[in-house]
Amino acid sequence: MTENLQNNYEILKLGNPILRLVAKKLSKEEILSPEIQDFIPKMWSVMKEAGGIGLAAPQIGVSIQMAVIKLESDSERYDNLEDSEEFVIFNPELKVIDKTKQGFWEGCLSVPGLRGYVERPRKLKISYLDEKAIKKEIIVEDFLATVFQHELDHLFGYLYVDRLHSTKELVFEDELANINSEKLLD
Ligand code: ZN
Repeated sequence: MTENLQNNYEILKLGNPILRLVAKKLSKEEILSPEIQDFIPKMWSVMKEAGGIGLAAPQIGVSIQMAVIKLESDSERYDNLEDSEEFVIFNPELKVIDKTKQGFWEGCLSVPGLRGYVERPRKLKISYLDEKAIKKEIIVEDFLATVFQHELDHLFGYLYVDRLHSTKELVFEDELANINSEKLLD
């Protein structure tokens, strides 16, 4: 792990085998270690520079169970979002509360240029350790539930393309305007 924690990070793309690993859980001591505490702001800066609303550590080549999520109302990649708090998530566990499916056109910094329509459960309980290694339990629903499932999938070797019902619902971003508007985020 240590040798992977460097200064310049590149976002790995679909096909890179690191994206397909089950990432390593961290102990509380590891979360509180200087190397991980220094890594957290790097995750935020890579995510913000790429214009993302979430980033999982394996996407920058660090195979640990860590992700950051922050919905931004001024996101250039997604319309009509409300600002969320900043979530730093270690060692998550997901429990579906409402398995009713909801669909969104998901994008991924590791699958640049494409969007896919993915249906996922609409409400979940997420248990995790935060940046201070304190246990948290939150309920997420609607679009935030999709974002959590998308990001946390990365920690278990999955990408949204694995969740598509059909490759007919995988499109280039600049073709989205031609798609049935009721499936669009806005
Ligand atoms: Zn992603």
